[in-house]
Order: sequence, then C-alpha cells, then structure tokens
Amino acid sequence: MLGLSYPTEGEEVMGVNRRRFLEIAGVSMLAFGASPVTEVLAEEELGFTLPETIFHFFKKPVGAVGREALKAKRWAMVVDAGQLDEEIAAACREVCHKVHNVPHIDNPKHEIKWIWEEDYEHTFTDQQHELISDEIKKLPFLVLCNNCLNPPCVRVCPTKATFKRKTDGIVMMDMHRCIGCRFCMAACPYGSRSFNWVDPRKYLPAEENWDNPEYPTRMKGVVEKCTFCVERLAKGLIPACVEVAQDLAKKKGRKPALIFGDLEDPNSEVRQVLRSNYSIRRKPTLGTNPNVYYIV
Ligand code: SF4
Repeated sequence: MLGLSYPTEGEEVMGVNRRRFLEIAGVSMLAFGASPVTEVLAEEELGFTLPETIFHFFKKPVGAVGREALKAKRWAMVVDAGQLDEEIAAACREVCHKVHNVPHIDNPKHEIKWIWEEDYEHTFTDQQHELISDEIKKLPFLVLCNNCLNPPCVRVCPTKATFKRKTDGIVMMDMHRCIGCRFCMAACPYGSRSFNWVDPRKYLPAEENWDNPEYPTRMKGVVEKCTFCVERLAKGLIPACVEVAQDLAKKKGRKPALIFGDLEDPNSEVRQVLRSNYSIRRKPTLGTNPNVYYIV
C-alpha cells in the first residue's frame, strides 16, 4: 500500500495475526453468508463487535463489554475551558498516555499523542477574528479525537480497522487490521491520529515496568488515537482524563474541567452543562459532528 514498507521485528507477528484474521473472517463469512460479519453478529448478542473480538484474540481483553460496563447511546465529552489550567491539562495528558502505554518520543515528527493542550487559535482555526478577547486567547484547551458522529476517518479506512461502534458511537481502532495506509489521518480534519513511524515499544520501559500492563502496546506502521477509554468504560470506569480532572477540581474547590456522559440522555450531566452554558465544537461546518464540546 502506497509503496510503504515497515520492516520491524514485529512484522512477523503482524503477519501471523493478519493470516489468522483472514482465516477467522473466512470461516465467519462461510457461516453467515456474504453479509459483513459485523452486521450479522449484533453487538447486543455478542457484547462486542467482531473487530474487537479479533483484537482480543491475540491480546488481553480490552473493550469487551462486561456486566458492570458504563453504557450510553452516544458518549460525549465537554471541556470547560474556564475550569482548565496548565496543571489539570498536563495531568489529563499524562494519565491518558500512562494508562494507554503511549510512548514519549522527543522527535516531533514521530510523536504519538492521544490528548494534548492547544491554545484557542490552534483549536478553533475556523472561528477567529481580530477582536477575540485576550482572556480566551490565554485559555488552555485540550484536544483529542472527537469520536465524531459522522467520522470521515471511518469512511476512508480500506480494512475497517477503524470503525464506529453501533451501540455508543465510539470510533474504535483495531490495530491488527490497520495496514498503515494513513488514509484515516488524511481524512481527519483535526489531526487526532498518530502514526507509529518507529517502533513505539523501544520508547517504553521494559514490559514489567509498563504503567498499565493490561493495555496492549502497538507496533511500527499502525495508527492510534483516543477511544474515550473504551477499556475503562467496559469496567465501569469513566475515562482516565475525566477522572483526574474531576479529582483535581475537588482539590481546587472548583467545577470539573471535563464532563463525560450520554448525549442522548436529556438528564445526563453533559446535557445539563450544555443546556446552561454556551459551547462550541471544532470545525462545525465540515459536518463531522464532533462529540467533544467546549465551553468557552
Ligand atoms: Fe475520526 Fe478525526 Fe473525528 Fe476522531 S476526530 S473520529 S479521528 S475524524
């Protein structure tokens, strides 16, 4: 694909996985006819989608929906910029990258980012004018994958390695189906995806020292991004960044900077804060319908 080649020590592993995937997919197609297996096997029956199943086939279970899982029809996050400060923003980034074993790579060309700080100008590139207040310009913003309702990244993925979960709208990533074509990165208007140009495991501590041994590491040649902590939701936990932001808010005696909940539930906290505050989203005219909102 695109004449790209990513020879690594992990290549054989990926090769085996891909073959195994094709075997499973082949058997499944025989069993269920020509329809895509993901459509045939309803998530309600399985508790997870097929790509997730395959992901878990080779790794520890991540994202399998357990009985205690948090559920929603449409997960959404609200970032209250007025409640954010540098300390909270840094804590959110740090905890996210720790629980997902995101490597710290100094070379900005190879950097992997799931959530990070930006200023107003770079967050809302299409919502500028010369009279925007200095106070807003100084606010820190947190940006991440918007887990869009209408995600262009999903539409262009040739292998369905990235897909929108029907039950709650989370835009998932199945690293084992990713072929590294980076069409998703070109399609995402927010730069929310990172590509592993180098072997990320070389930038992590030895396996016994990983911050989260339960979360699978990735390999050179695949794309990754935030998935609203799908693995934590499955265990009944809110996303790690939201948890940290809420803990710090309590300590500082202020309102939480991050709120997470079901946008389809009119009584959810996200709906309540959106009802009572003016909020904006990134690049709203593109029609991606982001599920991350910003109170400014
Ligand atoms: Fe896809 Fe980008 Fe939207 Fe995330 S923010 S769902 S990567 S288009």
